[in-house]
Amino acid sequence: MERESLEMDVVFVGAGPANLSGALHLAQLVRQHNEEVAAGARQGTPLGEIEIGVIEKGTTVGAHILSGAVMDPRGLAELIPDFVEQGAPLESPVKEDYFLYLTKNRAIRSPITPPPLKNHGYYIVSLNRLTAWLGEKCEAAGVNIFPEFPGAELLYDKNDCVVGVRTGDKGIDREGKRKANFEPGVDLRAKLTVLGEGPRGSLTKQLTERQGLDEGNEPQVYSIGVKELWELPDDRYPAGRVTHTLGFPSDSRTYGGGWIYGMQNRILNIGYVTGLDYEDPLLDPHAEFQRFKTHPYVSRLLDGGKMIRYGAKTIAAGGFFAMPRMYGDGFLLVGDCAGFLNSQRLKGIHSAIKSGMLAAKTIFEALLANDFSAKQLQRYEMLVNDSWIIPELRKVRNFHAGFRNGRWAGLVNAGLQFVTGGRAWGLLDRARAEPGHEAMKKLSSFGYRGDNLEQRYDGLRFDGKVTFNKVTDVYHAAVGHDEDQPVHLHVLDTNICATRCAEEYGNPCQRFCPAAVYEMVEGGNGQRHLQINFSNCVHCKTCDIMDPYQIINWVTPEGGGGPDYKGM
Ligand SMILES: Cc1cc2nc3c(=O)[nH]c(=O)nc-3n(C[C@H](O)[C@H](O)[C@H](O)COP(=O)(O)OP(=O)(O)OC[C@H]3O[C@@H](n4cnc5c(N)ncnc54)[C@H](O)[C@@H]3O)c2cc1C
Repeated sequence: MERESLEMDVVFVGAGPANLSGALHLAQLVRQHNEEVAAGARQGTPLGEIEIGVIEKGTTVGAHILSGAVMDPRGLAELIPDFVEQGAPLESPVKEDYFLYLTKNRAIRSPITPPPLKNHGYYIVSLNRLTAWLGEKCEAAGVNIFPEFPGAELLYDKNDCVVGVRTGDKGIDREGKRKANFEPGVDLRAKLTVLGEGPRGSLTKQLTERQGLDEGNEPQVYSIGVKELWELPDDRYPAGRVTHTLGFPSDSRTYGGGWIYGMQNRILNIGYVTGLDYEDPLLDPHAEFQRFKTHPYVSRLLDGGKMIRYGAKTIAAGGFFAMPRMYGDGFLLVGDCAGFLNSQRLKGIHSAIKSGMLAAKTIFEALLANDFSAKQLQRYEMLVNDSWIIPELRKVRNFHAGFRNGRWAGLVNAGLQFVTGGRAWGLLDRARAEPGHEAMKKLSSFGYRGDNLEQRYDGLRFDGKVTFNKVTDVYHAAVGHDEDQPVHLHVLDTNICATRCAEEYGNPCQRFCPAAVYEMVEGGNGQRHLQINFSNCVHCKTCDIMDPYQIINWVTPEGGGGPDYKGM
């Protein structure tokens, strides 16, 4: 097969806030250096034209970006100090913070907002719009952006040094045969490859396994955020109001909480986070969110409104002890790929931007030294350690682990952290974590009968007004995948599904997937088998994370496939 090969200096995989900030800052550093050398203000040789590329699997920059989001502007202010004047798409400054504890029927407002949830000085943003804007800034600075180019595999030299990325082939049918429109993926060869794929990146996963990037760490743990945008009929929830909730509908053993943010033009941004280390195999994060909306406080807010968008995405919540090695021969990891999110504040945009900038500084120095070895790139880790990212994460290093024993233990632990500077339960410097899927218990330990897998959500009805089933919601994620392509969700052993998994866990993939991708159906022979509706996939990666047997492998589909998260 003739495969095109493109030489670049630096290739960034994923057009999220981390990589776009990295690409933009690198372009700025190179330009400034070249200008100063030319003007005699700096010694050295000019770097000349540096080819910087960003590849993105979505149809446009931002199409696959889903976040809350309340943004701490610290990172953006360092990247673009006059971001307000330059017209960054900000929905509103945060004007009010509410923190509510929800019982089944009541909403109790906390007289004080816990400090980590205070958002004064921050902005409500649509991260989809903000990344699209950053993408424009990158292009204006000379960065090449390639949407619809999924990174399918990393390229290595004989010394296992990363030397670029191969993008996915186009025009392959379901059986793996070439169609008339077949186009082989391109080899983007680069001195340096930066992985900014967000949580549970598919290339990052491969690289982590191959080079043991997570050795000595606690396993990364995740949450999933399920979200809708609503158009309200009036100004009942002003732009700039931020509400966080705890309690209903999560049970006290499950990590979870809700958010409600007021955006411009009477748009309400509402969502629910569920920890992907839950125990109950019948739990369904999408159903948890739907139940959240049935709470009298929330349903009153939505009354007469219209749901206009839907989406779901995972969040890397492990924090400080789950951070992998973030550099190696020929590569760097930035943003959520490197686990820089502060899960106590549910904020990762600011640190994603900052990590991109620190990666850019490292790359700039590597270009000057013409050295892309792990030894040179270790500088990135030093820069991260010296930045504000690490002190912020260290203070909350045991936050998520504290919830392993349930909500109340987690809250006590979170409170004690303030006094002890981050120790777990006031004592331990480092609490142990376990991979989230290992927390899931079998049906039998909950006393569930295998013939009624709906029992956890008895009473939850999808009325099409406030609550929606997954298929209706997925329609509002504007998901598109060419149906005639290989399934991108690789289930390594489907024999388990109708037998062992059905008996032990009741096929939890049908519930943890927020997009109705997995379905157990009756075949012609009366046997049940797994049907994968891959065209529904919203690329959240929950299946890759939460499958109890770890036999689901999410890989990139054909470029351009996936959701379109406009305004999310
Ligand atoms: C529901 C939810 C709520 C959140 N709320 C907040 C909040 O209120 N405040 C806050 O600060 N943070 C919040 N976060 C976290 C924040 O969104 C992330 O920390 C931040 O987006 C991380 O940026 P990133 O660039 O590392 O990755 P991402 O934003 O995930 O971007 C990764 C990009 O890479 C692309 N990509 C992935 N793999 C490939 C591949 N192989 N080839 C090509 N492209 C690829 C993806 O399509 C995507 O565009 C929230 C996250 C979620 C999910």
